[in-house]
Amino acid sequence: MMNDQPLILWFRRDLRLSDHPMLAAAVASGRPLLPVFVLDAQAEALGAAAKWRLGLGLARFAETLAGMGQRLILRRGEALAVLQGLIAETGAAGVMWQRMYDPQAVARDTSVKAALKAQGLVAESFPGALLIEPWEVATGQGGFYKVYSPFWKAVSARGFAAPVPAVKALRAPQVWPASDNLDDWQMGAAMRRGAAVCLPHQRVGEEAALARLDEFIDSAVDRYKAERDFPGQIGATSGLSENLAWGEIGPRTIWAAGQRAMHQGDAGAEHFCKELVWREFAYHLMHHSPHILTRAWREEWDSFPWRGDNPQAEIWRHGMTGEPFVDAAMREMYVTGKMHNRARMIVASYLTKHLMTDWRLGQAWFADCLTDWDEASNAMGWQWVAGSGPDAAPYFRVFNPAGQAEKFDSDAAYRHHWIAELSLRPGAAALSYFDAVPKRWKLSPAQAYPAAMINLAEGRDKALAAYAARATTD
Ligand code: FAD
Repeated sequence: MMNDQPLILWFRRDLRLSDHPMLAAAVASGRPLLPVFVLDAQAEALGAAAKWRLGLGLARFAETLAGMGQRLILRRGEALAVLQGLIAETGAAGVMWQRMYDPQAVARDTSVKAALKAQGLVAESFPGALLIEPWEVATGQGGFYKVYSPFWKAVSARGFAAPVPAVKALRAPQVWPASDNLDDWQMGAAMRRGAAVCLPHQRVGEEAALARLDEFIDSAVDRYKAERDFPGQIGATSGLSENLAWGEIGPRTIWAAGQRAMHQGDAGAEHFCKELVWREFAYHLMHHSPHILTRAWREEWDSFPWRGDNPQAEIWRHGMTGEPFVDAAMREMYVTGKMHNRARMIVASYLTKHLMTDWRLGQAWFADCLTDWDEASNAMGWQWVAGSGPDAAPYFRVFNPAGQAEKFDSDAAYRHHWIAELSLRPGAAALSYFDAVPKRWKLSPAQAYPAAMINLAEGRDKALAAYAARATTD
């Protein structure tokens, strides 16, 4: 009889059926299951592209559930109040969820758990977003890792359990509670013109994510190490960050595929696994030092004379700096919702060093434009480039975008792909940028490409002088 009491499955960034310990446990309970997504303050506050992409993911996941005779119940409001309301409506035994690790989510989930438990209800959280829980690995001294290489050694030596298989059937409740209509939520409202342009670049849902992994392992992983740094090499990296960000694929599934390829002798597979573990490192750092999201991770950097928002930073956002590698990358992000990893490093270095602008402005712009936005990886990436983070590139390492272009885009394929003004007959991708950007930016492919906004050598010297001055005042 007790088994007829439903369980609420509180989905957040975990829109999949496979490699999902919470779902496997819920099915094993034998109870009717009520999948729910709550649009709470944290989800409402997502950047424009991320919120829109979440909407696409929710629509696809709801279709998947519908195909199994299930539903995704959508509710809006404060998470605990919504969940308690649903429990009262349905007589549910309680709630299960996969963990999130950012401080805001941790605070919310902790209070949800305490309140439900105090009512004598089931309130259970599960792993699944990461290969390893951030607190499960520690240095020999019992602290957390601040440098990647020993972290990699420690976690890769442990190995990971195989991913749990996909659930095949979810028992439906006899009566369904009411659900909001996803369209009414207008998840893409802030994207405006950009949504139609960005849409063809998204591969949404678990099926697409698994296909993406298969394609990458079959055709690209063996050249990953050699080609992953070249943004013009289409398909040289997996593209899975978009799906990982919304939990449309589990990291253990990716790790297992990488390990299989490695044992079959694919040259780049170990390197691919190592990159996946950078994501783990970002979560490890965020868990143990959550200030990485908002303040210089190294305290001494708090006093650095970063510039606040400024007209040059706005030109950087518009992809009009006149530095082709930088502009190509900024446009790639605006059109596709993603940016190649090497390009992320170059645009971040240009903003924080040549323009001496606070890394948090760049972090926020990425949060608004990326469909693969991941709070932990984004913060770690920005602080790494700025020099203020753990295991960071030293501040005096200033990427020269022109030199980087010669090295990593020697045939200019990437720059021509994204900058219409550089070609006599620009391609569709380059032109689509002008359809995506707000009209108030007043950009047109017919305009001449701008001259370089700053002299790279002067910008570099200024940044290094400010760094030297800071170093002597420490
Ligand atoms: P692949 O090369 O195929 O790698 C496989 C997976 O490994 C990725 O999907 C990702 O989950 C992980 N990974 C690879 N490189 C890194 C890395 N340097 N740090 C953390 N994880 C990594 N990644 C995000 O997912 N979201 C972000 O918001 C984000 N912001 C970034 C900001 C800056 C300034 C920098 C320098 C990097 C940022 N990254 C971010 C990391 C990295 O650029 C992307 O993960 C990568 O480009 C995704 O492409 P892919 O899926 O083809 O990666």
